[in-house]
Amino acid sequence: MARLMPPAIVILGSGALATARRLQRCYPDARVHGLRSRFEVPGEAHVEAGADGVDIVYDELSAYLRELYASGTPIIALCAAGIVIRCVAPLLANKGAEPPVLAVAEDGSAVVPLLGGLAGVNVMAREIAQALDVPPAITTSGELRFGTCVLNPPHGYALASIEQGKRFVSDLLAGESTRIEGAAHWLDDAQLPRSGTARRAIRVTPLAWDGNADELVIHPRSVAVALADGDHENAAQRVRDALATRGLSPLALAAIVAPISCSGDATLAHAADALGVALRFAEAGVDAGASAPPVGDARPASSLPRALLEAALPAQCEIVDLSPGIALAVAATPIDPDTIGRARGRLTVIGLGPGSADLMVPAARQALAQATDILGYATYVEMAGPFRADQRVHPTDNREEMQRARHAFELASGGRRVVMVSSGDPGVFAMASAVLEALDTSSTSDAPHWADVELQIVPGVSAAMATAAQAGAPLGHDFCMLSLSDNLKPWAVIEARVALAAQADLVMAFYNPVSRARPWQLDKALDIVRESRAPETTVVLGRDIGRPGASLVSTTLGKLSSADVDMRTMVIIGSSTTRVFSTRSQSADGAPREWVYTPRWYR
Ligand code: SAH
Repeated sequence: MARLMPPAIVILGSGALATARRLQRCYPDARVHGLRSRFEVPGEAHVEAGADGVDIVYDELSAYLRELYASGTPIIALCAAGIVIRCVAPLLANKGAEPPVLAVAEDGSAVVPLLGGLAGVNVMAREIAQALDVPPAITTSGELRFGTCVLNPPHGYALASIEQGKRFVSDLLAGESTRIEGAAHWLDDAQLPRSGTARRAIRVTPLAWDGNADELVIHPRSVAVALADGDHENAAQRVRDALATRGLSPLALAAIVAPISCSGDATLAHAADALGVALRFAEAGVDAGASAPPVGDARPASSLPRALLEAALPAQCEIVDLSPGIALAVAATPIDPDTIGRARGRLTVIGLGPGSADLMVPAARQALAQATDILGYATYVEMAGPFRADQRVHPTDNREEMQRARHAFELASGGRRVVMVSSGDPGVFAMASAVLEALDTSSTSDAPHWADVELQIVPGVSAAMATAAQAGAPLGHDFCMLSLSDNLKPWAVIEARVALAAQADLVMAFYNPVSRARPWQLDKALDIVRESRAPETTVVLGRDIGRPGASLVSTTLGKLSSADVDMRTMVIIGSSTTRVFSTRSQSADGAPREWVYTPRWYR
């Protein structure tokens, strides 16, 4: 069984909340997900976690369960089994990974494992049943007979062939008995039909299965392969060949180990992906490496790959040198890759969108779930939560951008998975530029190793887009985004750009329109716009869009005053063609629904 993500406990209404919280005691990292319409207080985008709230809200059960399923998240749904089956049914034909899916009665009186037999659903059913003090509704024959799923070995072990496994278990169910060879501690308490003289055997070994139909082979992931500096083309094939020369199964491989100097090497990362194993980086010990042995010492010098394995693995591993530049270690028990050297650090710069959870892109959510460290302006870090106990949060002041960017690289180059959060889109007047500026200048400073960090920038819905969508389509033709903040650029530049944009009849989205420290700038900018644009020009003001207390107002350039605007407002100034109209349908306040748009054409 692979190590699982924390399960999602999905409920519909508050009737299931008490049972959900009991299950959370069983899985402390699990979050309770509730239907938005039942849990969200109108006007409040965030639901407080706690006794009467849920941790995360979703909009529609069916699509949400499918999204969780497709991302491999174990699902504990507190509703009828039939509902859950119908929701995920469209995905079942796909042969992708199948996470455990369980239905639990709202009142905690029944636990039904539905899917994910090979991913440990019955183990979860037993754990949940124990927590709720009810019998689990186990229906898998092998599991019922033997008290465990023989085909679902624990984390750190892999089944050689699932097809052979199924045949083997049905033979046991038909009355055959088996020997157990090798260390299979998880089968100690299983009620298997054992016999020391049985023809059939469950064999736990890193050696490849030879196709013998009498054997069920389970591989401990107990092998590590080290590659030295140099040519990593065809690395995956070289690793496979190395394993083959020793008769080892690729499924027994736990990790590829390489020198820290190779941590920026993408070909190695691809090789590890292709083999489905971890890529870890180590430093050869001080007295090892390719150095010559001390004078008078008869031992040969350690090769670099051997030295890497010696430095990174426990002493009792058997290490074999395989030329050229490759060595292999076999441990007696599974190797936890997380304990070998360190990973390639990762820095992901994400945008949260304007505020509401449903406007955050899934890639950003995934980066947050995988993060070890989260950095950003305190307000946004809080918006990105809640976080698990194992995640470190580093909130900072808004003005410390370069320092924050450097801190992120320092953490990431130590092997951590760092996420930097911005609001909206991280590339629009936000942290992505600061992060790249830090990297750009690092080669000349003292931090060339930052270049080895796996850097990714995940886009987000920027405030202008979020506001425009609420209003209609004011950005439907050519537009520009301008920050009115003169903190980082001279006011003269802003004036010139506003004047030219106004003359060019571009729709304008003003970010950072005013602040306490910059009280007069917006009025000055509006005066400039008014020189070339009519007083009737449509203006949209979006304040705290996607956040609690959001407001959207449309007005005109003639009526607009800086008193209507604060630093949490997005100002969109229409072009000469931007139009407003109303429909008969009503908005929430009973007024006719108004739409603002800029046509795609020009007269
Ligand atoms: N990276 C952000 C912008 C940061 S600059 C993005 O892409 O949206 C900060 C300015 O963005 C604020 O002064 C305000 O003008 C605007 N802004 C950010 N979030 C907003 C929201 N939820 N509603 C309205 N304006 C917002």
